[in-house]
Amino acid sequence: MRHLLSVDDLRREDIERILGRAESFAEVAGREIKKVPTLRGRTVINLFYEASTRTSASFAIAAKRLSADVENVKAQGSSVDKGESLKDTVQTLSAYDPAAIVFRSPNAGAAGLVARWTSASVINAGDGKHEHPTQALLDLYTLRRRAGSLEGLNVWIVGDVLHSRVARSNILAFGRMGCRVTVCGPPTLMPRGVESLGCEVRYSLDDLGKADVVYALRMQQERMMGSFVPSLREYASCFQIDGRRLGSHQLLMHPGPVNRGVELAAEVIDSPQALITQQVESGVVVRMAVLYELLAGGPGGPRDPAGRGGISAAPAGESTEPQPA
Ligand code: ASP
Repeated sequence: MRHLLSVDDLRREDIERILGRAESFAEVAGREIKKVPTLRGRTVINLFYEASTRTSASFAIAAKRLSADVENVKAQGSSVDKGESLKDTVQTLSAYDPAAIVFRSPNAGAAGLVARWTSASVINAGDGKHEHPTQALLDLYTLRRRAGSLEGLNVWIVGDVLHSRVARSNILAFGRMGCRVTVCGPPTLMPRGVESLGCEVRYSLDDLGKADVVYALRMQQERMMGSFVPSLREYASCFQIDGRRLGSHQLLMHPGPVNRGVELAAEVIDSPQALITQQVESGVVVRMAVLYELLAGGPGGPRDPAGRGGISAAPAGESTEPQPA
C-alpha cells in the first residue's frame, strides 16, 4: 500500500495488522525514551489547509517518535497566502524528497489529487466531508482496547452525519471489523443514500438504549452553507447525549473537538464511560503504525517483519535488531 486515502483502501487484515502494530508502539510509548529509529533520515511533511489540533500534533509526534525529520506547513502563513496553487505547493514540497505527505484539506477528494502530483506516500488527514481514515483507525484501536473485541458491537453514530468525514470513515471501518452500525440525526443532517455504506438510519434517539457504543459527532458549522437545524438549542433537546440518555452500560466516543453543551452534556464528557481522552492518546501510536505501514512495513514492504526486518523496539541510536511487530 503506497497511500492511505480512504478506509476503502484497507482490508480487514490490513486493519488488524495496523492495530497490532499500534499495540507494539504502545509499549514504546510507555518507555522513558519514546523513540525508535525506523524512519531515521526520512522526511515527513504535514501539510494542513484546515484547522487541526489533535491530528496535526499527533502526526508530528508520531513521525518524531519514529525518528523522521518533520516539517509542518500550514496554508496560513505559507505561499498559499500569496496565491500559490495546491499543485504548485505540492510539487514545491516534493522537491525536498519527503517520504510522506500528511495532508488535510477542506475539499473532498483533494488528498487523491495530491497523491497524483507527488512520489511521496500521501496520508489523508481529513479531506472536507469525504474521509478521515486515521481517525477511524484510532477509534477502532481505542474501542478494541476497552471492549476487548469489536465483533458484533452495536455502534450508534449520532449527530451531523452529513458534514462528517469521520462518520463516513467510521461507518466503513466499524462495519469492516464486524460491528453493526446505526447512524442517527435529524433528516436535514443525514446524507441521502447513506445506508449504502452499510448502516441503518434513525431519526430519533428513541432506541439509543440498544447501542453498546454511542459515537457523537460535532455540529460542523464551518461546512454548513445555510441553516440545517432551527437552533442549536432545539438540536440539543432532540439529539444531545446527556446523563439521562447515556445508559451506564454504554461507552461514549467523540472525535473532538467537542462543543460542550451542544452534542454532549458536560456530565457525560467527564464520565468514566467516555473514551474521548483515550482516543486522543491512541492517535500517536496508531499514526506511528500507519507511517510504519506505508514507509517501512506492510506485506512485502522493505522492512516487512516477514522479510528483512521489523520495527526496532530499541530507542534511537541503539541496536536495530529485527523485532516481531
Ligand atoms: N476532528 C475531526 C475532523 O477533523 C472531527 C471534527 O472536526 O468534528 O473531522
